[in-house]
Amino acid sequence: MSKLKPCPFCGSEAEVIRMGTGRVSMQIGCTDCGAFVESGEMFISDGSRWNARAFQDSLIIDINRLSPLVNIVSNQKQRIQQLEEQLAAAKAEIAELESGIEYAIDNFAYYTQKTGKLLSYKQQELEVKHLMDVLAKHKAD
Ligand SMILES: [Zn+2]
Repeated sequence: MSKLKPCPFCGSEAEVIRMGTGRVSMQIGCTDCGAFVESGEMFISDGSRWNARAFQDSLIIDINRLSPLVNIVSNQKQRIQQLEEQLAAAKAEIAELESGIEYAIDNFAYYTQKTGKLLSYKQQELEVKHLMDVLAKHKAD
């Protein structure tokens, strides 16, 4: 008899409940919670079936424990994807605003230059008018 693994459900020790014979199956089970396996093949009496079941059931229990974590990880991945999309949208908006600012700065420079030229023309106009006034005064004298 190989050493029996503990019960996958409660962790208690396992024991041979009944040895198999030509007429009855062998049973190995938990000493506490009542989980058991039954073998109709009387020659498989070394506990390997219980141990295989203990291993298999403990895997199933692990899977059941892990699946909520898988959901949490999956939800987190979705949340990260949403945040990445929001970040990309925010970056695109920033780029658009920056190009708007560049456009406004270009326009400001353009109109400042135009205003400067206009002021210079006005000044020249005033100078010409002044000179014509002086000339008219000389003619009158
Ligand atoms: Zn048990």
